[in-house]
This record gives sequence, structure tokens and C-alpha cells, in this order.
Amino acid sequence: MEIIKVVPRGYCQGVVRAIQTAEKTARENSGQPIHMLGMIVHNRFVVEACEKLGIHCLEARGKTRLELLDEIDHGTVIFTAHGVSDAVYEKAAAKGLHIVDATCPDVRKTHDLIRDHVAHGDVLYIGKKNHPEAEGAVGISPRVHLISCREDLEELGPLENVLITNQTTLSILDNQALIEACLKQYPDAVAQEEICNATTMRQKAVMNLSSADCLIVVGDPHSNNTNQLREIGIKAGIPNAVLIENAMMLKESDILGYETIAVTSGSSTPNAITDGVIETLEHYSKTGLFEPVPLPDSVI
Ligand code: SF4
Repeated sequence: MEIIKVVPRGYCQGVVRAIQTAEKTARENSGQPIHMLGMIVHNRFVVEACEKLGIHCLEARGKTRLELLDEIDHGTVIFTAHGVSDAVYEKAAAKGLHIVDATCPDVRKTHDLIRDHVAHGDVLYIGKKNHPEAEGAVGISPRVHLISCREDLEELGPLENVLITNQTTLSILDNQALIEACLKQYPDAVAQEEICNATTMRQKAVMNLSSADCLIVVGDPHSNNTNQLREIGIKAGIPNAVLIENAMMLKESDILGYETIAVTSGSSTPNAITDGVIETLEHYSKTGLFEPVPLPDSVI
């Protein structure tokens, strides 16, 4: 059995920066209430590690960042790597909270692009419904229209001076298809593709896995970029593509009979967790024994 360790994989710069920001905040505000507005990055093991540092994560499915703010009265609030809308920022400031902003610079760049454009036109923003990054972008202005699928375009009437842009962690294949659908409806629109480099490079590395017959993607099922890696693997024709959170979730049947197994991970997946999966596969390849490596004590 051959094991391909896909490069690049795992943490991106934006995630490293967000985690370092959280750690620094915990060090500097020890003993004070610290809340994180949503999962700092979409990986529950990272969130659990932050909880151990004294950072309480506020996350409730169906609740917006703006609504989650109602649960904090004082102390520090950390905005996650996905960014927030201006309304969230203003509400946190009005409550007198100490704001720590861990928004990824790539997300901020897309927000700035949108903010500049809504002064003189409409924006079609391709993104996932209920995703915090999309929530932050759409919250910039009523002139930002979320496009999650072709059907969303049918609800739109005439728009002015249209800019098409997108969430940073989408599939490069799906995004292109939706950009084309937007251009069909608004032929004079200008498209500015904003998938970040980290996402693009990880997806392209999976697209180039022509020799692999099995792909293991390590990451949290709530992570958009992690899910996209599996989807890209399927579209690239890899016969078996599975997503697991860690080595303990790998089943022998996932890998049995496959000759070339590629391993990659989402940009929010700690390297220590992916290393455990690779170790499990290497041990299986050498000895024939399937003994998943347990989670490490600390992942960040
Ligand atoms: S995946 Fe891209 S946008 Fe998201 S945190 Fe990483 S670098 Fe930033």
C-alpha cells in the first residue's frame, strides 16, 4: 500500500493567525470573561483547546453573530477567522466589550472589495447559506445578494453595475459554474473571483492525484473547505473519498483493498490529528494491523 501525503494540507496562515490571536488574548486577559463569537475555526478540537485556555465559545445553530452577541454583557469578545459584518462590530462596541478581531486578512480583503462596490452598485456574493463568512459579507449592505445556487438568481430583478464575488473557501469548480450562471443573467457584470490561495492550492493538489484510488480527508464535517476537498476528490474520479475527524474514526473497511491512499486535511485541521491518521496508515501498511492512533492530549 502506498501512502501519499498531499502537499499542501492542514493549517493555513489565516487559521494559524486566529489561533495565535486567541492564545495571546487568553494570556493577556487571564481571569476575565472571554467569549468567542462562534467557532474560531471550524474544528471542534481547536475549539475545545481554546475552552481549556478559558475562552468560551458561543455557537448555536440558527443564531446569527448579531444574536449571539446578546449573550455577552462584559469582558472580551473574539471575532473568528470568518469575519463579521459592520453591524456586529458596532453592536459589540456599543456594549462596551473589548473587541479582539481574528478575521483572516483574505476575508477582510473580500469585505473591503464589497464595501467599496456597494457605494455605486450591487454585489452578487456566491457563498453558503448560514455560513458565518457569508453572513458577514451579506451583512455589509442590502445591495449584497447571496447566491448559493442557480435558483437564487431567479428571485432577482434588474440590478445596477453588478460585481460578482464569492466566499473564500468554495470549491473552485462549483464557484466557476455559478459565476457563469450569474454572467448569463447579468452579462455586463464584472466577476472578481476571491477563493483564497490556501483553498485553491489544497484543492488543486487533490485534483492532481491521478494515481490515488482512495482519498482520506481529515477535518471537521462543519468546515466548508474540508468538505470541498472531499467533493473535489470525488469529481477528480478517485473511487473512494472519505472524510474523518481523526484516526479513531477511520474504519478498516475505508482502506481495505486500496493500493494508493492519499491523505489531506482542511485548513482548520490541526497537524497533530492528520499525523495520527498517517501513522495509522503507515502502521497498517507495514504490519497489517489496524490500530488507530488515539487523539493527542493537545492539538494546538
Ligand atoms: S482558508 Fe483562506 S480565508 Fe479561510 S482562514 Fe485560511 S487563508 Fe483565510
